[in-house]
Amino acid sequence: EAKRSGRNVARLFETRMDEGIRVRRTVQDRLSRSIARGELEMLFQPIVANGAFETVGFEALLRWNTDEFGPISPSVFIPIAEESDLIHELGEWVLTQALESARDSPDQYVSVNFSPRQFRRQNFIGHVMELVQRAGIEPHRLQIEITETALFDDVERAAETLYRLRQMGFRVALDDFGTGYSNLYNVRKFPLDALKIDRSFIDGMVRERESAAIVRSITQLGRALKLEVIAEGVETDGQVALLRAAGASHLQGFLFSHPLRAEDARALVEEGYVRRDDDGQVTALQN
Ligand code: C2E
Ligand code: MG
Ligand code: MG
Ligand code: MG
Repeated sequence: EAKRSGRNVARLFETRMDEGIRVRRTVQDRLSRSIARGELEMLFQPIVANGAFETVGFEALLRWNTDEFGPISPSVFIPIAEESDLIHELGEWVLTQALESARDSPDQYVSVNFSPRQFRRQNFIGHVMELVQRAGIEPHRLQIEITETALFDDVERAAETLYRLRQMGFRVALDDFGTGYSNLYNVRKFPLDALKIDRSFIDGMVRERESAAIVRSITQLGRALKLEVIAEGVETDGQVALLRAAGASHLQGFLFSHPLRAEDARALVEEGYVRRDDDGQVTALQN
């Protein structure tokens, strides 16, 4: 009896695995045609200074709108793209779009997410530099966001890449900080401009003493290392008050603005506010 149910579970598990592989293949297949089919879009979310809340930069966030399945979240399709060289094709598209939109807001930087596979690619720096030069954007107007995962399998090589990027004038931010394998000893070795505190800690900080304590220790670490500290996922005034007390230098989240279409991001820096949203919702931001 036990043996039979064991076999059934094994068979069920196999079916599930097959299904998982099928789903991934389908996504990969559709995704590889998404650029040509015009299904991709970049949105831009303001990053504001913790003070007068002026917009200092925009994070570029990728959207995939499919006819068949509606919008698919980057948390779903990026990891699948990351399994193959498809990520390089998407990454090149993302960077080109982000740099193009950066021309519209010369006082802000654009912050672009790079996956570990992109960061570890041969001649990563050369690829980035080529697109930046082609776009005619100064390196300090591009912030490169990478996660701890990209850094910790070959610490020496990663540190060298970061060193060269910063020497060329690019900004570098460590994304989702606090969720990965960073040990503080290694973080000290990485030349960085900013730490981005993961949303999960910001989410918990008003309710839980533990999250609030983690946020405070990350901001202290940032100050000690002379880094900017960007809190992501800020949704309430209560969080802003705690983040101000903790000394986070920058804030990003729905409280200030949802990710915006390029033309709305441009309107924001030109006029100081935007009031448009797909569902008629008002997004306003005073500078
Ligand atoms: P991330 O880089 O940590 O981006 C922040 C995510 O938090 C974004 O989700 C953003 O829309 C969301 N967010 C911002 N403010 C708030 C808030 O106040 N509340 C809540 N609940 N969420 C907020 P999104 O756009 O779905 O992206 C998810 C992840 O997908 C990103 O996390 C990033 O890791 C990845 N991703 C997005 N675009 C790209 C891209 O162009 N290239 C690569 N390699 N990865 C990307
Ligand atoms: Mg990011
Ligand atoms: Mg993040
Ligand atoms: Mg995140």
